[in-house]
Amino acid sequence: MKIEFYGVRGSMPTPGKDTVIYGGNTSCVYVELNNKQNVILDSGTGIAGLSKKFNETKQPVHILLTHSHWDHIQGFPYFQPIYQNNSNITIVTGATENNDNDMILRQMSGANHPVKYQHLPCSITLNTQLAQQHEFALNGFNVTTQALNHPDGGTAYCLHADNQKIAYVTDNELKPPYLESSTWEEWVKFVLNADVLIHDAQYNNNDMPLKHGWGHSTFEQVVELALQANVKQLFFISHDPSKTDEELAKQEALLQKTLKDTPHCNLSVAWAKEQHEYNVNTQSFTAMFKNAE
Ligand SMILES: [Zn+2]
Repeated sequence: MKIEFYGVRGSMPTPGKDTVIYGGNTSCVYVELNNKQNVILDSGTGIAGLSKKFNETKQPVHILLTHSHWDHIQGFPYFQPIYQNNSNITIVTGATENNDNDMILRQMSGANHPVKYQHLPCSITLNTQLAQQHEFALNGFNVTTQALNHPDGGTAYCLHADNQKIAYVTDNELKPPYLESSTWEEWVKFVLNADVLIHDAQYNNNDMPLKHGWGHSTFEQVVELALQANVKQLFFISHDPSKTDEELAKQEALLQKTLKDTPHCNLSVAWAKEQHEYNVNTQSFTAMFKNAE
């Protein structure tokens, strides 16, 4: 199984010289199972870069959406397979609190994008109920869910396939000031023994208390969760749009050194980088293209 990062930025796209290393596209993570089945986690602007991959394959496309905030759906109108009549796309929407979980299609109403979703030639199955179940199966792999602590709600997913467990948890505030949808103990149980945890860490302790309640976690809280849950590999995602490559790299180096110096700590951590892939079988993280290093 392998994981490819196409969009790792939170809130809004951030192109420019300060974000070329970690990337400026909003949330989109591609997971390829050993049998070549695919799962796309969220449909931020990063999904446009995935289009080429599906020109080469007729495999059905599975998109799991955490929630309907812009940065998780806004790339969908630019995902080329939706304009191909042989594409078969299943979308599972996150369980949000408002009646907006079909927003991924409704954003193509004509007002926000010139092509209306009713005119798309591909086959789209929109499943707005599945994520309300704690567990479901989708074309050869199993998925478990947990409710996000985030304004308007949403769903976190664990993929269970190839004897591995991949947890995708964003946007999520682990210690919110408001009534939480999922408790700390529930999060520990949800990500327990995950081979890979990809978790929102938009902030750090210095950003608090100002951003307490905004629906995102600090990387310090996520490390605490990963250690308690015996996670093997942790990737932070949903990087703050105001944070530069230099700031993230500095934080990353410091945290990696701290964990390396901690006795009996086997947790490996990294801030997710666009155009990088993680091979779960070999536990290696590499650039997908030479110029992405
Ligand atoms: Zn959000």
